[in-house]
Amino acid sequence: MTVIYRAARVFDGQAMTANRRVVVEGERIVDVLGDDGPERDVVELGEATILPGLVDAHVHLVWDGSVAPESVVASESAVRTSFRAAARAEAHLRAGVVAVRDLGSTEALAIEVAGAIDAGLARGPRVVAAGRAVTMTGGHVHCIGREADGADAVRHAVRAEIKFGAECIKLMASGGILGPPGELPGAVQLTAGELAVAVDEAHRAGRGVAAHAHSVESIVNALDAGADSIEHGSRLDAPTAARMADAGVYLVPTLAPLRSICANGRALGMPPDVLAKATDLLDLTAESFHTALAHQVPLAAGTDAGVPTQRHGLVWQELATMVQLGCPPEVALRAGTAGGARLLGLGDTAGRVLAGARADLIAVPGDPRDDPSVLARPCLVLLDGNPIVAHHREEPAWTSRC
Ligand SMILES: [Zn+2]
Repeated sequence: MTVIYRAARVFDGQAMTANRRVVVEGERIVDVLGDDGPERDVVELGEATILPGLVDAHVHLVWDGSVAPESVVASESAVRTSFRAAARAEAHLRAGVVAVRDLGSTEALAIEVAGAIDAGLARGPRVVAAGRAVTMTGGHVHCIGREADGADAVRHAVRAEIKFGAECIKLMASGGILGPPGELPGAVQLTAGELAVAVDEAHRAGRGVAAHAHSVESIVNALDAGADSIEHGSRLDAPTAARMADAGVYLVPTLAPLRSICANGRALGMPPDVLAKATDLLDLTAESFHTALAHQVPLAAGTDAGVPTQRHGLVWQELATMVQLGCPPEVALRAGTAGGARLLGLGDTAGRVLAGARADLIAVPGDPRDDPSVLARPCLVLLDGNPIVAHHREEPAWTSRC
């Protein structure tokens, strides 16, 4: 069956063009046309903008965004947590997110959610899951990690996650904001040697590697090892940014969650030491992001959804924050579509609106270059050509609470 979606403009994953028609046949886009053409089977979206479905390159499906999400997980059975994680995946999809990368869960639950969605047992975006994050003993968020020390143990940890079905590998190269008072975000955790072994093992199995790294030293360690993305990267300097750009290593700056913790954490009762760490990094992350923009470091949008104050399905906030900090809107839109899709390894046409690509599309009411918040209100979400949200049709009444 062929359906033609017509809108005032189309962002194709790279650039915006006016007055386009996107022709969808089954699960594929078969053509993108100008304003002239047949009127048959046209869905008129008016002043809307059609975009590729959004991609969130950093989420934690087992976490709920509450003040202490690890305590919620610890208080429930793994089965209950799995149901909640699946509901959160669906929340992403209904918000126009067609792919997420899960960078740390308990008991490989995010891998199970990915499999359940693939098998048609649950409805959600494509989930590229790391399983447990590989972290040193007592390392950053070891509650969603697999602790390993020394080259042999780290190699085993990576092999074990791949055995469980991990499609990517997450490594903790530095400390972080969430953690005990003594954990410093800038402190090196997995060593350069441990990171090198882990990346070698992951790449030989065809898995991409995400390295959580705040300080320059930990970022350099991750780059030396060959990591594919730097998560957070809050103290990126110019030489390191230039190196990332040259090597095509992505930055996933997770700007919105840090701002949300600083703005809302105190009222929600977050520990003072965590708030102090977040406040210390706030201006540094903005500077790092500017450095990344200046050096044209490849960007992917990630929300760290599930960490305190950060609910699921809000990737539009990350794109809006990028723009607030001076990022050109089309660069931010690329980070939330084609950039993320490429980092997740979803294929050359993923995150694009062009002939031959999967029909994973959204439409939003207005021009997101003028007002990124329109991305929060998709009037159309297609996954493989199937309408998930379609305001021109009748809406399903039920939505999950997650
Ligand atoms: Zn994270």
